[in-house]
Order: sequence, then structure tokens, then C-alpha cells
Amino acid sequence: MRPKNGRRVAFHTLGCKVNQYDTQAMQEKFEQSGYIITDFNDFADIYVIYTCTVTNLGDRKSRQMIRRANRHNPNAVIAVVGCYAQTAPEEILEIPGVNLVLGTRERNKIVEYVEQVLETGEPINLIRDIMEVREFEEMPISTYDEKTRAVLKIQEGCDRYCSYCIIPYARGPVRSRKPEDVISQVHSLVKAGFQEFVLTGIHVASYGKDLNNVDLLSLIEEIAKIEGVERIRLGSLEPTLLTEDYVKGIKDIIKVCRHYHLSLQSGHDHTLKRMNRKYNTKEYREIVDRLRKYIPNVAITTDIMVGFPGETQEEFEGTMDFVKSIGFSRIHVFKYSPRQGTPAARYKDQVPEDIKEIRSRKLIALGKEMELNYLKTFIDKEELVLFEEKSKEKKDWYEGYTDHYIRVAVQYNDSLIGKIVPVCLETIQDGIMLGTLK
Ligand code: SF4
Repeated sequence: MRPKNGRRVAFHTLGCKVNQYDTQAMQEKFEQSGYIITDFNDFADIYVIYTCTVTNLGDRKSRQMIRRANRHNPNAVIAVVGCYAQTAPEEILEIPGVNLVLGTRERNKIVEYVEQVLETGEPINLIRDIMEVREFEEMPISTYDEKTRAVLKIQEGCDRYCSYCIIPYARGPVRSRKPEDVISQVHSLVKAGFQEFVLTGIHVASYGKDLNNVDLLSLIEEIAKIEGVERIRLGSLEPTLLTEDYVKGIKDIIKVCRHYHLSLQSGHDHTLKRMNRKYNTKEYREIVDRLRKYIPNVAITTDIMVGFPGETQEEFEGTMDFVKSIGFSRIHVFKYSPRQGTPAARYKDQVPEDIKEIRSRKLIALGKEMELNYLKTFIDKEELVLFEEKSKEKKDWYEGYTDHYIRVAVQYNDSLIGKIVPVCLETIQDGIMLGTLK
């Protein structure tokens, strides 16, 4: 069908999976209204930049992309959406070319607002107090960039207020997507060929807090009943969700991947307290033990921040020891950077950059060692792999993931994309397991 209006719209998304989901939903809104989606580096009539503010670097990159859009077409409508837009609208409106600031609400009306700007030529600032919003903004999608795995947004907002994090101020209170909307979304994505669903949100563990008679576990049970759903993967989780009842409940849902990303941030109780995290290392260890008791060889991955204000050498060594004793299958290490507007940015005893760098390297090296150890436990084991794509380097090789989120490559003379196939895992090469089809 020929597009109705022929105007071109280009997107650039910074930040997390939730932003990618929201972008997909907005993109579909434009397509339904007859716009043509084009590459961000091309000339377009409208540029939508989904910003991120999780670090100061996120802000900087967001500004760079806005300026780039303005260079591509100084007469374009530039719509700035997302967390940075929500927290600093005036700053954004000062950047030449910006004429729509949308933030983290009313994204489902983006086409109407863009058309209003096109009609009147007047800039619009739609930023309102996000703390007043109580409803999840329903933004369905019908497809996703990847071929077999879809990100499924089920929740918005966070009320945890970790002392280093700006997100609760940018995203507002916890809002959960209605279970009937989640289920309908899954049905349409199954029809489009998706088999794996990654349940995502700003604070997924809070799912259902604002609704009656539904929590994350009951939602997962309902999704698992849907024919065509082969895998349910959980996005980053706050560990305290995993009570004895929860783990007992989830272990029997075989579609739930044996992979849990439990954000740790620090392995020292004093640092955790300053971070305003809601658990201590003893509780975290109990949660990991519980998972391992019910789900043998479960993959546990995590995020760790180094150089949080006041982190002494002793605290850092404590984190190293704790991480070693847990034995994660993968860790993501990042260096603390002060986020303006958060309590931690005002803490004294900011850690010098060179110390952060040394600590980061040490933890990354430990992470690599632990990852290798974990992968070795799979040698000569048979695992089901959902193949996602052709190898970019090797002809006739296909790559995919086990439910433990182990990347696997096999050589085969026919397409394996979209198939779930048993593979015998044999060797490890650059963090990927090579195997043969059974
Ligand atoms: S749990 Fe903490 S780190 Fe995560 S979004 Fe909420 S405040 Fe930020």
C-alpha cells in the first residue's frame, strides 16, 4: 500500500530495552498513519530521539544526536522523548531545531503532536509532573527488530530510590500493564513468529503492586499457557522478589529460562547501605542458594558498580570476595559516575577516576574467569538452542542461545533460524560454545 502522506520519519534510541520497546511502538504509530520510516543518517521530515539520562554521558549523547538530526535537516520536526527530556526539558528546548519535548508520558500520541507542530510551526513542551501519573501507558507493538525474541514491556516506573539513580524521577511511580493487555500482546507477537519473550520494565519485580490480584508469578503462569510461547526470560530483577514461595512456584514452569539477572551493585554491606539498596549480602546469598537448590546449574548474572562514593579499598576487596564466593555466570561491571539530582552525587569521598579504573579492571577479569568456569560445566552436555541468526564471520554457521543464555554456534548446511534444536556442546571459543546438532 502506498503511504498516505509520504513524510519520512527517523528514530534514534539511546539507553535500555524499555526505550527500544517504546520506540518500536511509536514507530508503528507513524507507519499506521502513513509515514515512511527511514534511517537516522538520512534526510527525514521528522526525527525522534529517545533519550537516556541514566548517566551524564547519556545526556551528552542525547544532545549530540539532537544536533546531528538538525544538521541532516534544519527544517525537520525534532521530537525529543524519554528520560532526559522528562528531567531537563528547558535544556533540551534550547538546542536549535527542537520543537517537541515529550518525556515519558503521552508517547502514544506522538503522531498527533508532531502533526500539530507541522501545522502551527509552534514548539510544544509537554513535560508535566510524572509523579502524578498512575496508569500504565498502553503502547502495543506487532513486531520487533529481532527475529525470534521479543522484548515485552510489562511495567513502568520505580519507587526504590537507590541513592545513585535518577530513574524514579524520570519515570515516575510503579505502573503495571494490565494482564489482559500483556496477554493480547503476546498472542499477536506469537502470530508474528516470536517464540521467546523477555519480560521487561523499569523495575520488573514491582509488577502488580498497583493492580488487584495479580503479581509477576501469576502473569508468567498465564503467558506460559499460550501456545507458541516457547521461552519466557526475565529481565533484570531485584533479588528480594525471589522468596521461597516464588522460587517454588516458578521452578515448575518449564518455559521460564533458567537464567536470572539479579542486580547486586556491591558485595559489601556498608556500600549497599549507602546505595540505599534493599538487601544485604547475607540475604543476597540466601536468595542465590535458594535458586540453586530448586534450579540446578541456573545461570546467575549481575551488575556491579565500582567506585561508589566512599567505597574504601576494604569494601572493594569485600565485593571481590563476595563475587568470587557466589560464582556468577557473567557480570556487567560499570564505574560509578555522579548523576546530578541524586543524593549520591552530593556525597563526600567521591572515588578518583584512576582508582575506579583499577577496580573495574580487576572485577572484569574476575568476571571473565567465572564465565569460563560456568561455560565449562556445559561441555559434553546437550542443551536446546533457539537459533537467531547466521554467523557474521563464518559461512554456514548459525548462532543462538540456550535458555541459560549461553551463546552457541553450530555449522549446518540449512537455515536453523527460528528453530529450537538439541545441540551437543563441545568447546568454548571467545565466550561462545561450539557444538554439533544431535
Ligand atoms: S531499582 Fe534502583 S537502580 Fe533500579 S531503576 Fe529503581 S532506583 Fe534505579
